[in-house]
Amino acid sequence: MSSEIIESVFLTPIPSSYRKELGKNAYIDNIGMQRLEWVVCARSSSGAEGISIANRLMREGTVESTLAYLKSALLGREVEQLLEISEGVVTGAGPGMDRWYRRNGWMTILAFDLVGKVQGVSAIDLLGGPKHDSVPAYDTTLYFQDFLNPSRGAQQVADEAYQALTDGWRAVKLKIGRGGRWMLPEAGMERDIDVVLGVREAVGSDVKIYVDANFGYDNQFDLLDRFIKEVTPADIFWFEEMITHSVDGYKQMREILAKYGSGALLTCGEVDRDPISEIFQDLIDGGLIDGYQPDIVGHGYLGWMDIERQLAGTGVRTIPHNFGNGSFGTYASIIWGAASETYVSLEDERAIPCYLTALPEFIKGAYTLPTGPGLGVDIDYSGYAPHSKHENRITV
Ligand SMILES: [Mg+2]
Repeated sequence: MSSEIIESVFLTPIPSSYRKELGKNAYIDNIGMQRLEWVVCARSSSGAEGISIANRLMREGTVESTLAYLKSALLGREVEQLLEISEGVVTGAGPGMDRWYRRNGWMTILAFDLVGKVQGVSAIDLLGGPKHDSVPAYDTTLYFQDFLNPSRGAQQVADEAYQALTDGWRAVKLKIGRGGRWMLPEAGMERDIDVVLGVREAVGSDVKIYVDANFGYDNQFDLLDRFIKEVTPADIFWFEEMITHSVDGYKQMREILAKYGSGALLTCGEVDRDPISEIFQDLIDGGLIDGYQPDIVGHGYLGWMDIERQLAGTGVRTIPHNFGNGSFGTYASIIWGAASETYVSLEDERAIPCYLTALPEFIKGAYTLPTGPGLGVDIDYSGYAPHSKHENRITV
């Protein structure tokens, strides 16, 4: 690699739209139609562009503070200094970069993209090469859609799951935990059961069903027991965040699953902001969870490399959280999913692409692997044009 430097960086807010309105989950009110992606793009001397989104930094930051951060972290820096690479595979942060990446894992994804594009290699290869031919994905847009359409009730969720099947999806995740906040606990559990059984009936036996309670069954072990009993015949692939992570709670859940003969995975960890924190390490060491879910963009590729090193040999699988990462998150997840040995399934918001070039082909519920350098995606400047009015650019 010649001595390319990063000559300019822009930060642009771009709304990514869903294909429908998304309802509540166990605690958060309606998600709505849109989320904002804080797109960051760093351009090098030869015109190569590395892309990511800085949503985590912007959660508490301002445009002004984030630009100051990007200026210190990236502007004027040599591209070959971004990552440490040995025999074509990334081994860690480039010199002096660790402090910038530590709380901003999303920036490591930009680094893989830019380095890959400058070197003409795929980020999948920088991560050690593909482990799979395609990356399975699931539709994660089945919120409490029954609350958006009360007259249809649980049938509304079943109808939307059937639509996902028609659109080519082979796995769906259902938000449950209605009794956590929006309904009385018992009535909420009954609705959850109706939703799960209704969806299974609608999509048939070949579609994987995951459920996610966002802790909606906390302090309700009797109801959790009944829920698991009733939905086990519907063949649930994983139970996510049924309760807040605790060793005793997860031991109880293991017992409930065993009692009803469920082979479902137990998954959690999306709330772990500093993985792997002590409680999650306890769950992993105790063999109490099967999948671990820190956010893919929040922790980035270097963060996830570190997580997977620690998970090696535990049997716990990689299932990164991706909700809220919009269209960019799908591209970032495909790369990671392709390179991760223990990856299960990509959480896909199915955001309508507006500022990025086309996704790889989606066949039988899985994305084919991108073939281009870096993440295999570029800014589509015709789609980007209307958003350039809100662009904030810094240059050397
Ligand atoms: Mg979740």
